[in-house]
Amino acid sequence: MAKLEPRCCFLIPMKSIFLFLQVFLLCAAAAFGALKRADHVFIISFDQGAPAGIQKAEMPVFKAMAAEGSHTWQAYTIVPSITLPSHTSMLTGVGIQKHQVLWNDYQPDKGPVGVPTVFSIAKEHGFTTALFATKEKFKTLVRPGSVDTFVVPEPPVAQGVADACAAEVLKSKPNLCFIHFGDPDVAGHKFGMNSPEKMKAFAECDAALKTIREAVKAAGIEASSVFILTADHGGHDVPEVKDGQPTGKIYGSHGSPAKEDVEIPWVAWGKEVKPGFEIAAPVVIYDTAATALWLLGIDPPESFWGRPVASAFAPVPVAAAQKP
Ligand SMILES: [Zn+2]
Repeated sequence: MAKLEPRCCFLIPMKSIFLFLQVFLLCAAAAFGALKRADHVFIISFDQGAPAGIQKAEMPVFKAMAAEGSHTWQAYTIVPSITLPSHTSMLTGVGIQKHQVLWNDYQPDKGPVGVPTVFSIAKEHGFTTALFATKEKFKTLVRPGSVDTFVVPEPPVAQGVADACAAEVLKSKPNLCFIHFGDPDVAGHKFGMNSPEKMKAFAECDAALKTIREAVKAAGIEASSVFILTADHGGHDVPEVKDGQPTGKIYGSHGSPAKEDVEIPWVAWGKEVKPGFEIAAPVVIYDTAATALWLLGIDPPESFWGRPVASAFAPVPVAAAQKP
């Protein structure tokens, strides 16, 4: 007679228990709202930060964060790929058809954007917010009572923005910070997409990024922070023509649906970000707002077009998974 192998239904592999807990927690999160993954979110936009230019530039801090965290070099902005409409999509979670910020300069008479922003929603949930930019037109994104700290430094350069942000981080440790570095856009328009001047601007932005990273560390909040590094649009070179004749010079432009104009980087680095992960899911600029709220434990509103880039993060928040 064949000997029967002893069987014991109590010997369930630990791996299965862990998997069950993960599924349970995901279901609980879906039923009772998002789980908070980070206490601090930093969205940093490199204006005219075309992936090809960033890859050529001297940007060791940015590149290390892309390599250490999760990234895609093929995220997309809206069309028209222009600064204020694009940043409005980045920070409202909806397309231009919905937010209707169709202009690209500061027009106080038009008032702030008419749809909720990542700042106004975060404030409604009790979080502190801050916005540091190199262009005044970002006032368009400040709905009443939504931004605790708003700074456009003088002169309006990346390092000034970073210094202002660093000081505020050390002082009040805001939960949600948006930082805009406009320098690459200025250089790109004037001298071309891959000009030495544009590369210098990128390098200066990288130094400014380092300043913010150091402040976050000094404030003791690095372990509870997530950084999102991205851009509002790319750009392309155009030969300069004067009096019907090419001058031999080039300048940078953007606004079209061409690949060079709409491709942007999207990097997540920090708490619970998957290390060394290349994001395969499609990422559109309005996913940034959804991701920032989701990280803070806020379900993005149904009115959002954007969705959290969940694949860039651990499937279940580590703190939640460790609870019995
Ligand atoms: Zn721009």
